[in-house]
Amino acid sequence: MKIYDSIIIGGGPAGLCAGLYLSRGGYDALLLESGFIGGQASLTSNIENYPGFENGISGIDLAMKMEEQAKRFGLNILYNEVKNINLSGDIKTLLTADGELHAKTVIIACGASPRKLGLPNEENLTGSGVSYCATCDGAFFKGMDVAIIGGGNTAAEDALFLSKIVNKVYIIHRRDNLRAEQSYKNKISETANIEVVYNSKIKQIVEKDGAVNGIEIDKNGESAALFVRGVFVAIGTEPRSGLFKEIKKDENGYIITDENMKTSLPGVYAAGDIRKKSLRQVVTAVADGAVAANSAALFLSGGIV
Ligand code: NAP
Repeated sequence: MKIYDSIIIGGGPAGLCAGLYLSRGGYDALLLESGFIGGQASLTSNIENYPGFENGISGIDLAMKMEEQAKRFGLNILYNEVKNINLSGDIKTLLTADGELHAKTVIIACGASPRKLGLPNEENLTGSGVSYCATCDGAFFKGMDVAIIGGGNTAAEDALFLSKIVNKVYIIHRRDNLRAEQSYKNKISETANIEVVYNSKIKQIVEKDGAVNGIEIDKNGESAALFVRGVFVAIGTEPRSGLFKEIKKDENGYIITDENMKTSLPGVYAAGDIRKKSLRQVVTAVADGAVAANSAALFLSGGIV
């Protein structure tokens, strides 16, 4: 039976960085990714606050560079989904579609996925006007009016990205102030075709012929209709932590770690957006990945972590 030193679950910045550190350190590490390399970061059009790229870099370019760097040191990457997992005991077992995998340590870096609005038409219209990724789907709305729901950095970044493609962008935000960083707010106020609609909640996505044909919003208790063909949902994320039943999490499902990325189970570490933390950005994800890899390496060599 093949036993890896470490299996990393998730190929976003946290997982890729953990993989880089472990493989560079001579450990036999395998990274499992169920979708695309780069995680949520790869959906970002331009990352301006990751040091070393003075003009910013697209999320996908950054992810590809991280992947190449980790592979150069021998990281194995397998595109497969973990279906079940047993993290107790000295040897951890992960069940994938192609069978069982075994490792002495596991680094959980599955990140988070976009939160849904929970509106009746939302699921039906996903891919037909409703989107969770402006950089992936923005081009379908060239010259049209679109709405972004949310008020954080993602909503702001999506609005700025879409403003260059579409006719008009409405940002529908439930409060009277965007949560997004000031630099984004400044750019938004300087962009003529972005309108922020404050104190407003989306009530309904109107459907016609299987596509989005406007939205109904509640603004300060009054209903209003907006004719938009696209609805970009940017209301935050939820951790992909459902599989890890044995591990201690907070009330929102984020995995609780100590400063060494150690979880409640020996030999199991968590890194990146799936972890309970205050700042979820690429720079903090890679830092988590490095720390988790170092802790796993210490554990493997009989250290105390
Ligand atoms: P976020 O910061 O959690 O913001 C979510 C936004 O959606 C908030 O404005 C929130 O409103 C609103 N919201 C939440 N639930 C809602 C609901 N049910 N209906 C309507 N509105 C709702 O999420 P995010 O913008 O996706 O960002 C996630 C993380 O990634 C953050 O840590 C962010 O800083 C980071 N990020 C960083 C960058 C960057 O630095 N370049 C870019 C993108 C994302 P309230 O404000 O009222 O809570």
